[in-house]
Amino acid sequence: MLRIVTLVAICSVLLHTEIAACQDQIPLRATNIDNCVNKFIAAINHSDSEELRQLFTPRLSSVETAETTTRWLRDILSKKGPVLSVETPRSDGSHVRVRLKSNDGQWDLKLFVTNDFQVDAYIMVPQIETIRVPKRNTTKLRLPFRDEWYVHAGGSKESENYHFRLGAPSFYAIDFFYLDEDSKLFRNKGESAEDFFGFGRDILSAGDGEVVVVIDGVPDNIPSETNSTSASGNTIIIKHAPDEYTVYSHLKRGSTRVKVGNRVAQGDVIAQCGNSGFTTAPHLHFQLTNSLRFSESTGFPAFFSNANVRIEAKPVSRDEYSPRRGDWVANKQE
Ligand SMILES: [Zn+2]
Repeated sequence: MLRIVTLVAICSVLLHTEIAACQDQIPLRATNIDNCVNKFIAAINHSDSEELRQLFTPRLSSVETAETTTRWLRDILSKKGPVLSVETPRSDGSHVRVRLKSNDGQWDLKLFVTNDFQVDAYIMVPQIETIRVPKRNTTKLRLPFRDEWYVHAGGSKESENYHFRLGAPSFYAIDFFYLDEDSKLFRNKGESAEDFFGFGRDILSAGDGEVVVVIDGVPDNIPSETNSTSASGNTIIIKHAPDEYTVYSHLKRGSTRVKVGNRVAQGDVIAQCGNSGFTTAPHLHFQLTNSLRFSESTGFPAFFSNANVRIEAKPVSRDEYSPRRGDWVANKQE
């Protein structure tokens, strides 16, 4: 029991710091994003540059003159007319995209919003094509490791999966941790990545596909420290279908076994679990996504075939399984 408590403590540090990182990049509360967007649109429709500039960061105010703002507003209104309706803003980890309708069609407004809800940059662009978001994988997937791992974050609700707070590209992502047979996360004091039982364990391709991204060379962090310059750390992305990619992040530096363009089969070893990027303890961040264009991508649920799932003591066999926080999971032997 004590050992489980240790895991929870470490993981809540992880949770806390992931959210802190997120706050550096995107606003978290939709109501605040909505407020910011609504004020921005009102200023456009009022053609009021003063009103618009009140939303600017000091940086943007200093690099953009009032004349430029006035000209932009005049230009937008003369070309497109007043904004008649606005779709729910979409945040993706670096910017907020808002789809606008006017008499002259639909347009996308991109706002770069700071964590205190000021606008640091903005641009109006033609409507960006919406990429289809599959409901689940069509490719047969198996869990991307051997033995049993713990699901620290997974599921379709924010309460069990904090990735939902990071925006659409991270929806339904899963964090898997490996513990030893005594449910211990690490040996000794856990002061080095090597102390963690998960560190260096093989990560397997979840399905057949083609390797399309390989990032290696990001150093593994000392546990409880993070790398703020590389969120995902060493990462492999495998394409399984035109809008179906699996992503494996925080991999161990120098452990990748594949190159871009390689074909891989389900179960092939592609790398090892590591502690690179924005993570405080070795684990695998896994997700399914519909596009390589990060800002336009959306995560969707992964269903794994032939899994053994243990919620408390007894493993249950599941043919089509989507991991949820608190589950212990393994591949069923075929
Ligand atoms: Zn994660």
